[in-house]
Order: sequence, then structure tokens, then C-alpha cells
Amino acid sequence: MDAFVYTSLQSRIVFGQGTLTRVADEVSLLGCGRAFVLSDPHHVETAAAKVLELLGARAVGLSTDAAMHTPVEVTERVLEKLTKAAPDCLISLGGGSTTGLGKALALRTGLPQIAVPTTYAGSEATPILGQTEQGRKTTLRSLNVLPRVIVYDVDLTLGMPARLSAVSGMNAMAHAVEALYAKDGNPVTSMLAEQAIAALARALPAIVADTRNLEARSDALFGAWACGNCLGTVGMALHHKLCHTLGGTFDLPHAETHTVILPHAAAFNQGSAPKALKRAARALDVDSAGAGLFDLVESLGGPTSLKAIGALLESASHRQGSHPRSAR
Ligand code: NAD
Repeated sequence: MDAFVYTSLQSRIVFGQGTLTRVADEVSLLGCGRAFVLSDPHHVETAAAKVLELLGARAVGLSTDAAMHTPVEVTERVLEKLTKAAPDCLISLGGGSTTGLGKALALRTGLPQIAVPTTYAGSEATPILGQTEQGRKTTLRSLNVLPRVIVYDVDLTLGMPARLSAVSGMNAMAHAVEALYAKDGNPVTSMLAEQAIAALARALPAIVADTRNLEARSDALFGAWACGNCLGTVGMALHHKLCHTLGGTFDLPHAETHTVILPHAAAFNQGSAPKALKRAARALDVDSAGAGLFDLVESLGGPTSLKAIGALLESASHRQGSHPRSAR
């Protein structure tokens, strides 16, 4: 065994079906009694309404203002509302954008957070916050933004459309693939990364075939937590930097950008990180990680070019030899 350093992240994970009903108890376990709830328009009349009902008088405010890439002006607007409500904890129920707003508010207020994720972005398991101000995205790492509790309720993901499930799952998988060749990689994170890649590779095709497949949904949500944990415990590399730059420069959708870039980043890194990518290929049950990821995205009906997600670029992947499948 090579020498390594591993820093674990401390969060309480409540995972299962119907766990949303435990949110009020989790508020009490934190020693809190005044929760400010964040959600998105998609969940406001369903899951968020249920949380408000369960909390009763212990819910002191609601915001559905979260936006992609956590714009600072949105955070400051919600902060004003939150300050007036004087909560003692935050509950964020939604995708990565809602989790991001919760983290941005936690950073500014020191309030403990309970995250209830509804996509596979994985942000809830990381001490990372990306924020945008005047079109510029900056990222910080701080334990102050790490949710104290994550409530994973498989039921909340059953209504996720096939396409969102596919791109969100590939976004998660990118965290695990890059964790395998991280500079500060370690055996604990790598073990989890392989398990996460395998769980998502198994679950996503089944979800695309039947979005209400409970077993596949459960595997994918576990995979999402494991991928988030990978992102939270080691540094990322080429793939995440490319997505960050492309997304910011061309204002591209987050999960879709990860979906397009991941097979190419894996194929490009094959020569420099063969052992890591062999582990990724093993988890995917294919011979080559880059080609296997490309095939997976294609089979899920996901986007395979930047052009397909709105970037007006001449695709370099059309040049002979630079396609992930050419590694076969
Ligand atoms: P999102 O939260 O913006 O959600 C995308 C859309 O899906 C929204 O319209 C939302 O209302 C809808 N939605 C959410 N859950 C749904 C469900 N179960 N069914 C149907 N629709 C649903 O997008 P995302 O991809 O979850 O997150 C992207 C954001 O997360 C980006 O801002 C990204 O930077 C951030 N992120 C941060 C980290 C981190 O560690 N800091 C990690 C990953 C992603």
C-alpha cells in the first residue's frame, strides 16, 4: 500500500424511501426549532409543501429563488428575507442549485443545514461552493458550507425525467472518475469511486428504460452520494476545469456539459493515468473507460457534442484519432 492522507467529512446520512418524513426529527436532533426552507419551483407544491406541513410552526420562511451557479445577487436577496425570519437552521430541498444557495447562506450566517437532494449532482456531500458574480464563477472549499445532515429520499427522484436523470448521473460519475487519478487520491476514496461508477453505470440505463424503477433509483442515489463524497475528499482535474471554463464562457447547462466532456477527458487521460482508468473501465465493465463512457452516454440518449448543448464550436472530436472510441 502506498502512503496516503485521507480526511473524512462529517455528515449524517439518512438514506431510504419515504425519509422526507424524518426531516422534522432531524431539525430537532440538531437542537433547532426555526427552519428556513429553500426549494425550487418544481418541488414547491409537493415535497417542499410536505416539509412545511411536517414542520408546522417550526418553518419560519421559504424561498424558491435558487438559480444555476449560485449568483451572489440572488444569495444576498434571500439573505435579507432570511435575516428577517431569524431561523436557526436551513433546509435545502432540490437539485444542485438549491443546495448551492443553502451553502452560500450557511457561509454567510453560520447556520447548520439539512440537505434533501432531488438530483444526482452530489453537491450536498461536498464542502465546495461555486458562486457567480458579474458573470465570473469562483469556487471555495470550507467546512462551513458542508451540510450537517443529508436526507436522501428515493421517492423524490422517481419523477425525474429520463434525460435529467441521465445527464445528472453522468455529472455525478465525473466526480468519481476524476477521483481515481486525483493528485491527493487515496484508497478510501478510490474504493468508493469504483463502487459509485458501477452503481450508476448499472442504474442509469434501467432508469432511462423505466424512470420509476425503484431499485435502479436507489442505486443511482447511493451512487450520487458516493460520487459527491469523492468530489468532497480529493481534488479534481482536467475534466472539471474544462467544464468550469466551457460552462462559464459559453453559459452551457452544467450537467449536460459534464456529460459531453467526460468521455473525452477520460480518453485523453488514458496515457497519463492508465491504472486509474483501468479501475474506471472495470467499474463500467468495459475495456476502455473513454469509449465505454461515450457508449454509455449515447445509449442513454444523452448529448455527445458541445454543439448539441448549444455551444457554437467546431468540434475537435471530429478530427481523426481524437474521438474516445479511437482508443479501442
Ligand atoms: P438544478 O438544481 O439547477 O436542477 C435542474 C432542473 O431540474 C431545475 O429546473 C430543477 O427544478 C429541476 N429538478 C430538480 N430535481 C428534480 C426532480 N427530482 N425531478 C424533476 N426536476 C427536477 O441542477 P443540478 O444539475 O442538480 O445542479 C447544478 C448546480 O449544482 C450547478 O450550479 C453546479 O455548479 C452545482 N454543483 C455544485 C457542486 C459542488 O460540490 N459545489 C457539485 C455538483 C454540482
